[in-house]
Amino acid sequence: ANSLLANTGTTIFTVMSALALRHQAINLGQGFPDTDGPADIVAAAAAALQDGRNQYPPLTGVPELRQAVAAANARFYGLDIDPDREVVVTSGATEAITASLMALIDPGDEVVLIEPLYDTYLPVVKLLGGVPKLVRLAPPAWELPRAELAAAFTPRTKAILLNSPMNPIGKVFSAEELGFIAGLLQQHDAYAVCDEVYEHLVFDGLSHIPLMTLPGMRERCLRIGSAGKTFSLTGWKVGYVTGPAALMGVVAKAHQNLTFTTAPNLQRAVAVGLAKDDSYFRGLSADLQAQRDHLVAGLTAAGFKMLPSGGSYFVLADYAALDSDGDDAAFCMKLAEQAGVVAIPLSAFYAGEKPRHHVRFAFCKQTAVLDEAIARLTRYF
Ligand code: PMP
Ligand code: GLN
Repeated sequence: ANSLLANTGTTIFTVMSALALRHQAINLGQGFPDTDGPADIVAAAAAALQDGRNQYPPLTGVPELRQAVAAANARFYGLDIDPDREVVVTSGATEAITASLMALIDPGDEVVLIEPLYDTYLPVVKLLGGVPKLVRLAPPAWELPRAELAAAFTPRTKAILLNSPMNPIGKVFSAEELGFIAGLLQQHDAYAVCDEVYEHLVFDGLSHIPLMTLPGMRERCLRIGSAGKTFSLTGWKVGYVTGPAALMGVVAKAHQNLTFTTAPNLQRAVAVGLAKDDSYFRGLSADLQAQRDHLVAGLTAAGFKMLPSGGSYFVLADYAALDSDGDDAAFCMKLAEQAGVVAIPLSAFYAGEKPRHHVRFAFCKQTAVLDEAIARLTRYF
């Protein structure tokens, strides 16, 4: 067997969701909403299933969805994307990340990754023969360490993988930080794979800025979105990549060899979703912001020190004042078994030296569920 995969553990999100089931714990671990996305999008998928277009859709995605992705790029970011040559629809952002890296790197190429990192990044870079160069952000401010980032770029750097808004810390990269990264990409003739699945889940009046919108970056970025997050339908696994035509042709070849296509009815329904008016997108982030505030208030009262989160489904909690026994994984086990609440240890997002005493809570849950979690944790501590 492939030694890298044979030695890879089951993803922490699956492990912790199983633990939640076993202990009948409230699951604030794996990031998925506990209510379905908009009924009209679901109805569009059901109707599309029954109208007789259930054979292989085009390789790069159904035209309606590619056009809707291009139109959303124009509406939200002023980007001019050719729906025929610059969009590839994938089976979730997960495939989009793999296809994008596959398209960019040859064995031996270096890829800059930022820790904490999402769990597929490192294994995929390694499986492709890429050489990961890790740069780490540090709590509580999670500032971009500019000198270290610059030092991670070498003549062998092919790409950076950038996640903004960032899972698990909720960091939304600023225009200045993105400008610094853009400068490095130009200086080193490198590319960016931009994981922007939480692009519409941004709070407190912050705005999500795609790196692709910065001067000189249109030709250097592969920008990834996910209908799962944008429409609260995480099980659908519809993602999309936009980028310059020359690179997207190669992304299409990667997609051709990974999954080839994605369910056509879901694609057509996501096209309906992307055409929703601005109030839908504003409502999505406003609702999530309210859920974040609710959980933060409750956990603060329960004794956690909550870190700021400007975007995503997640907020970090520092539990140092509550427990100092073991590491964060042990703390999460204890929470699941004894308090009846599941969270994700921050250390799961690190390859190198593990951070201590932080856990990630998902707040994309109904108020009653958040309240029950808060009540259980308040009783426990
Ligand atoms: N990237 C990040 C940062 C994520 O949090 C997730 C979570 N699901 C994904 C990619 C994968 O998205 P999808 O479900 O569309 O494959
Ligand atoms: N992205 C989700 C999270 O961070 C999980 C997705 C998965 O389970 N693979 O919780």
